Amino acid sequence: NRLRMNYLMKNYKPYPISFEKGKGIYLYTKKNEEYIDAISGIGVCCLGHGDKKITKVISNQANKLLHTSNIYEINKQKELAKNLCKISSMKSVFFCNSGSEANETAMKLARLHANKNNLKNPKMIVFKNGWHGRSFMTLAATSSESAKKGFSPLPGGFITLPLNDINEICKVIKLKQVSAIIIEVIQGEGGINISEKKFLKKLRDITKKKDILLIIDEVQTGIGRTGKWFAYQNYGITPDIVTSAKGLGNGVPIGACMGNQKVSKLFEPGSHGSTFGGNPFVSTISLEVLKIIKERNLLDHVNEMGKFFINQLKDDLGNLKIVREIRGMGLMIGIELKKPNLPVVKDCLEKQNLLLNLTSSNIVIMLPPLIIKKGQLKTISKKLKFVLESYE
Ligand code: PLP
Repeated sequence: NRLRMNYLMKNYKPYPISFEKGKGIYLYTKKNEEYIDAISGIGVCCLGHGDKKITKVISNQANKLLHTSNIYEINKQKELAKNLCKISSMKSVFFCNSGSEANETAMKLARLHANKNNLKNPKMIVFKNGWHGRSFMTLAATSSESAKKGFSPLPGGFITLPLNDINEICKVIKLKQVSAIIIEVIQGEGGINISEKKFLKKLRDITKKKDILLIIDEVQTGIGRTGKWFAYQNYGITPDIVTSAKGLGNGVPIGACMGNQKVSKLFEPGSHGSTFGGNPFVSTISLEVLKIIKERNLLDHVNEMGKFFINQLKDDLGNLKIVREIRGMGLMIGIELKKPNLPVVKDCLEKQNLLLNLTSSNIVIMLPPLIIKKGQLKTISKKLKFVLESYE
């Protein structure tokens, strides 16, 4: 293990544990010790681990074809694009390999839109506690000072505003040439901060009126996480651009940037590209992920489990002095603690064989696989109670 660490760059500081296999919501070490995965590789393994159907599709496709190139037509990619447009109400899709790339694509589209409208100094509004990625442009759009540390000069043109404050947005739009706004309907890495319905509806109205592109980053919230295909569908609005990744491939790297009619006219041959984006392998698997979510009625399941889980957590943890708030939507859950930097992740891992995450120093985050059942959620809640109680 030490040897392995020596050859890796130091950007991660992993816990000294490694998993060899997984089944459903469980992960197993080499010694066959069982852990409950309540974080799904940070919102990725939406169907859990070792799904038989997915494994079969992966194996079949690996036998047939992995990769060609976007200089040839890829039928499965076309089929996947059609499916994504259907579930998002968008018109066309660009495929890439991660959330950052999907957002980078959205930002390039926003720049084309700004230039088409002859904006001399185009600005993009982003939000406090927002997270959009680690490439230079998406990092510049990200709020976290610690993620940005040491990387200046970052690309400019971003204006950071507080979430749920429509007046601030109106003020900026009056003074500056705003070409786009990028928002997570529920901020994930920023601590499960939920946009208000009134705010999002107003935001949609204003952006439509002013020809400002509304980009919704669904990298973490999308593909059923909140009980709809995409979180904005809980709000009755449709953006101009939707970005997706994480759960879209269930562990196989894929990203997608989807645009409406207006956005679909911006790229022309040669404008943008990706070597791997939407290759036959990932497209086939992603198609199967969408099919399984539909066939197994997982959106309804997530709604039901989400409500159950929040109530269970409130019952078990609501009275603890250390807990400030329990919030979430679907199976995207945050527990805000009153004290920062508690060793919750380590203690859950070592004492309760439970995997979860801590963000913004005091918000426990859980993103369990969408297939999780009531009894398993109950177990997670009890395990967490045991750990949090020890801090009282
Ligand atoms: N956008 C959101 C909302 C995210 O949560 C993340 C990652 O956590 C990203 C973008 C970046 O995605 P990736 O790490 O796949 O580049």
